[in-house]
Amino acid sequence: MELIAGEVSQITKKQRFRSLKLVSVDLDEVLVEQPYGVDYGRLHNGLSYYVRRNCKPRMRAALALAVKVGSVLEEEDERGVAHIVEHLAFSATKKYTNHDIVKFLESVGAEFGACQNAVTSADDTVYELFVPVDKPGLLSQAISILAEFSTEVRVSKDDLEKERGAVMEEYRGNRNATGRMQDAHWVLMTEGSKYAERLPIGLEKVIRTVSSETVKSFYQKWYHLHNMAVIAIGDFPDTESVVDLIKTHFGQKNSATDPPVIPIVPVPSHQEPHFSSFIESEAAGSAVMISYKMAVNELKTVKEYKEMLTESMFLHALNQRFFKISRRKDPPYFSCSATADDLVRPLKACIISAACKERGTLEALESVLIEVARVRLHGFSEREVAVVRALLMSEIESAYLERDQMQSTSLRDELLQHFLCNEPVIGIEHEARLQKTILPRE
Ligand SMILES: [Zn+2]
Repeated sequence: MELIAGEVSQITKKQRFRSLKLVSVDLDEVLVEQPYGVDYGRLHNGLSYYVRRNCKPRMRAALALAVKVGSVLEEEDERGVAHIVEHLAFSATKKYTNHDIVKFLESVGAEFGACQNAVTSADDTVYELFVPVDKPGLLSQAISILAEFSTEVRVSKDDLEKERGAVMEEYRGNRNATGRMQDAHWVLMTEGSKYAERLPIGLEKVIRTVSSETVKSFYQKWYHLHNMAVIAIGDFPDTESVVDLIKTHFGQKNSATDPPVIPIVPVPSHQEPHFSSFIESEAAGSAVMISYKMAVNELKTVKEYKEMLTESMFLHALNQRFFKISRRKDPPYFSCSATADDLVRPLKACIISAACKERGTLEALESVLIEVARVRLHGFSEREVAVVRALLMSEIESAYLERDQMQSTSLRDELLQHFLCNEPVIGIEHEARLQKTILPRE
């Protein structure tokens, strides 16, 4: 009986996707800026907030404090300071000492400290907490900790001395084969831009010798409430009470100065390809990577949404080709895949990487380039397009049918993108309808 009931509900669910009405679209139509399904607003001090109820997992909440401050804002003598601030936040704030924050993180079963609960990149810093909400007071305390991070991090000489060791350890940990290759790729991609000299980990000299005054002035200059958002997604009875908690803890905070303008740091393009090669005894195998630089696309209108879908179809179709080649007898590579990712705020990269035999890098490189050239000249066949179209349709269908199974952490990540990268959050219902309507056929 159980099984039959399950099957029936599956069928009705499927029909529900099939019966989803196509929407009439105007390609110039602007996608809504207001994130869908979220209690969203801004406090008088400039802080943005996003609150949403979601019960996966039950009695838990995924929280974040997103700060539009990363290593690209550092001056030469501050290289590594954005990351040091992240560490100091967990060390002590006006209200909490290290001991208090450890105790809290232990009480919610979280791993302790910076880097387990926060990430600093070139463009931003994100603090995340995942907390149970079944005991009273936990949510309030978690929000209060994020509020302390926003304006009350205590940057004292002692705090800094204590933290230098941990940051240096991280610096050294990054000096392995993978780290060296990642850093070299970063520099090749961003050469000629300030980004090339602003890897978030910074410089050893700065980590060892930077003064607490320098760290403090960086924190005070850039950590402005205007550049921050707090996000709370979880199994709450209602969103209003959570917004009230945010107002209680953040409402009294004030940033000292006017909001600083976060500059857009350009990354120049170049005519000649950049390249580098590594001989690494520690490397796990041989690989070839080709990266194409392009500007980050705006995603504001239906037309741009359609372009995003087209790009996704392109990558899927290209990956199907690579997969087929990798299954040939005596293939040029074991595996090969193409992805597109935003590298830094203004720069996107289409990265094709192939894992190959030890002496097979040239053969792999040639094969990848030939395939890319073939696509450039002849495009994809109708059948290839039909296959990836069906694939994308089934992906969106599953996402739509399982929409009530979305994890709070995934919803939080979407909202982080909304705040940090202006990516629209239009809701899975609308997205499914839109995709069904406009997914390209050729
Ligand atoms: Zn760290």
